[in-house]
Amino acid sequence: MANNGTTHAQEHVDSHPKPPFPAKKLEKPGLESKLEPRPQYEAPTYHPADKLAGKRALVTGGDSGIGRAVAVIFAREGADIAINYLPAEQSDAEETKRAVESHGRKCILIPGDLTDEKFCHELVERAVKELGGLDILVSNAAHQNRKTIHELSPEEFDRTFKTNVYAYYLLTKAAIPHLPRGGSIIATSSSTGYRGSEELPDYSATKGAINQFTKVLAKQLVDKRIRVNAVAPGPVWTPLNPADEGLPPEDVAHFGEKTPLERPAQPEEIAPAYVFLASEADSSFITGIILPVLGGETIGA
Ligand code: NAD
Ligand code: MG
Repeated sequence: MANNGTTHAQEHVDSHPKPPFPAKKLEKPGLESKLEPRPQYEAPTYHPADKLAGKRALVTGGDSGIGRAVAVIFAREGADIAINYLPAEQSDAEETKRAVESHGRKCILIPGDLTDEKFCHELVERAVKELGGLDILVSNAAHQNRKTIHELSPEEFDRTFKTNVYAYYLLTKAAIPHLPRGGSIIATSSSTGYRGSEELPDYSATKGAINQFTKVLAKQLVDKRIRVNAVAPGPVWTPLNPADEGLPPEDVAHFGEKTPLERPAQPEEIAPAYVFLASEADSSFITGIILPVLGGETIGA
């Protein structure tokens, strides 16, 4: 119970901002430090329980948004972290590092571009070397720009697939030899991977591909006792959409308003799903699922 007689759960319920937000765009790749209101990633009502004690995790896109919240909550559960991000996001990455270190865990910073096949391999090797091994891979980075099919160039289509799908494949392939029994791979999917979004042809297609790749990997790796799952969020307040070149400022202001909860999630509300899927204590019998975190939207199976 909190001091005034309300429970933490009650305090939590209305603690997340609702639209309208400032009608303000961000320049790509989108710095979290420039986003108003600042995304909530600290999960103050969450109580860690050593679920990832001594584990080592690599989180792509760990500088900001969902990836930052995952890095921090994993650290609170006892894991050391390596994060990857684009060089332009160094200042955001340093904030993630400070937050992880404030919980007494290591945070290794490995900037670089995931569209580069060679870099994907080097990233895993560096994470393994600097963390002393690898137990958890979170393939979370993504490229997104709203485009019609007419506007969508082959170069952009390629970039979206390279960032969202190829990197998942390449990082997984590089990580498998290092992951122990009980290891976990988690990808970030999206509600668009179930139903498609008319505004996001290439991005939705990558999320559909991520879903099927996750299921196949889960089957192929079951013998190694490596579990493979994905989290599919609905709208989340992160730099991704304010920095989407096809989203007008007035839509940034109303982002997430159409969910049944009438607001986007904050990253801290998505991150516990990753703990659940990473932790043997929580999900040892779960592999090959796409876990929806959709703010009340329901989906057909
Ligand atoms: P975010 O902008 O904070 O994170 C995306 C990250 O991707 C960036 O920080 C950047 O570091 C990384 N990235 C992009 N291109 C890269 C490249 N070429 N090389 C290396 N890194 C690159 O936004 P977020 O919303 O936290 O996104 C995290 C994941 O969540 C993504 O997979 C996204 O598709 C997914 N998602 C987001 C929402 C949402 O509404 N924000 C909804 C559903 C799914
Ligand atoms: Mg970022």
